[in-house]
Amino acid sequence: MAGEPQADCLFCKIVAGEVPATVVRESETAIAFRDISPQAPTHVLVIPRAHHADAAALAAADPALAADLLREAGAVAADEGIDGSGYRIVLNTGSGAGQTVFHVHAHVLGGRDLTWPPG
Ligand code: 5GP
Repeated sequence: MAGEPQADCLFCKIVAGEVPATVVRESETAIAFRDISPQAPTHVLVIPRAHHADAAALAAADPALAADLLREAGAVAADEGIDGSGYRIVLNTGSGAGQTVFHVHAHVLGGRDLTWPPG
């Protein structure tokens, strides 16, 4: 069912505390932790506690939770002190776009110059 934890999902395991992560922010609905392979001085992943495969599935199933995820991403940027200089929120959606973990996550990237277009 939409939102239910999935036994084979890495990020559900992080939510459950079964896989360690460096958590930087938590709310009732979301959790933010440092990416294991950072691509910028700040690289934090923000995920809903509920399991949704990607951004489109999340927005379709629970628009309020999708909005909450974006709010939390902005709060992470403020906590990290990168909101003034600018930062990027990335939601890779689908394997062709580079999504490798199918539990929706917003990458919050900043702390260096970010070029466009992304690779
Ligand atoms: P995607 O490629 O799906 O958009 O992003 C998945 C991200 O999860 C990657 O940036 C990858 O480095 C990160 N990642 C994969 N496994 C782990 C892990 O066990 N812990 C943490 N903190 N990040 C992970």
